Formats: sequence, C-alpha cells, structure tokens
Amino acid sequence: MIDTVDKTKTSLRRMFFALTLPEAIQQDIVQWRAANFPPEAGRPIVAANMHLTLAFLGEISAAKAQVLQQQAGRISQAGFSVTLDDVGHWPGSGVIWLGCKNPPRGLLQLAQLLRSQAARSGCAQTSLPFHPHVTLLRGATRPVVIPAKTNNQRLCVDHFSLYESVLVRGRTRYTKVQSWPLASGERKPDDV
Ligand code: ATP
Ligand code: MG
Repeated sequence: MIDTVDKTKTSLRRMFFALTLPEAIQQDIVQWRAANFPPEAGRPIVAANMHLTLAFLGEISAAKAQVLQQQAGRISQAGFSVTLDDVGHWPGSGVIWLGCKNPPRGLLQLAQLLRSQAARSGCAQTSLPFHPHVTLLRGATRPVVIPAKTNNQRLCVDHFSLYESVLVRGRTRYTKVQSWPLASGERKPDDV
C-alpha cells in the first residue's frame, strides 16, 4: 500500500559519520578554490557543507541509528591532526577534492572502525579503499588543471560527528545529530 511505503520512507534518515571542518577552514578553502579553479571546472560545494566523510550509512531507521550511536559512543581513541596537502580529480564521479598525502593513523583507524560497525549493522560499505577527502566541486567530469599545491590547511581533530543529509528545497544540507570527543594528550603534533 502506498501509504505504508511512504510512512516507512519518512522514518528513514540518510546519515553519515564525518569530521567537521571549522568555519575558518571552510572559508579559507572557498578562497583557495576560487583562486585555483575556473567557474567551468564544476559545481562548488557551499562552505557550510564541506566535511570529511568517515563512514556513509545510507538511509537508516531510528533503531539502526541508535545502535550505531551507542557503538560510536564506546569508541575510545586519541585525537589527531590532518593536513590537507593533496588535491585531485575523480573524473568518473565528477569530484574534485582536497585530501592528505599521508593520512594519520588515527584517522584511518577511526574510519575503519565506524565502517566495520556500519557494515555489521547492515549498512553496505563500498569495496573501494577509504580515501579521506573533502569534496570541493561536483559535476567535474571534464579534464581540469589541478593545482600543484594546496594551501595546507591543518585540522586538529578532537571529535567526530553523526550527520543527517536532508534535501531542503532541492539543496542538500547536513544537520549534525551527535558528536563524540576524541581523547586529548599523548598526541604529538606530527603523529601520523
Ligand atoms: P548530493 O548527493 O545530494 O549531491 P552529497 O553527496 O553531499 O550531495 P549525500 O549523498 O547525502 O550528499 O552524501 C553524504 C556524504 O556521504 C557525502 O560526503 C558523500 O560523498 C558521502 N557518500 C554518499 N554516498 C556514498 C556512498 N555510497 N559511499 C560512500 N560515501 C558516500
Ligand atoms: Mg551524494
């Protein structure tokens, strides 16, 4: 019955775990992007939507979200820093991104843990290796000159968050649902 299908749909939320980018870094990235890519390179992601995805969950029920939130709350890991020193283009998916040449171990561990917990809860995970990145432009399917260098923004990561992705008047917006701290201390500035 159409009614039932619709009800089921509305109780599902599209969710993902991600690292938040501080507003100052989002703004720096916007300026760097404007200086380094022509308008025809692709569709710019708005500053407020810039993030680094750790694990994509898809459309999930409240019950599944609750389980994943409980598991996220039991993660005990130290914070780390991430330097966005790499930039690239995936023409197949039309994405231009900022990433890191040497992702810190803490970042890889956190993503791995969240992704395996998600998979165990039935959230299908891509078989592609995790490539931490911040999407800058979408719809970038044509060849584009990629700048030789980034401006090396450095994120000090002391928490991670669960986000909901919602369509508001045709635009994708993310809402932070919950955040969890990563422990401080014992962190060397360049601990990779
Ligand atoms: P839109 O799809 O509306 O253009 P978006 O891709 O930013 O915008 P979502 O599709 O809701 O929004 O994705 C939320 C986050 O999860 C983004 O970082 C996106 O790259 C990532 N993501 C989406 N689908 C997958 C997937 N199948 N596997 C891994 N990550 C994904
Ligand atoms: Mg998408």
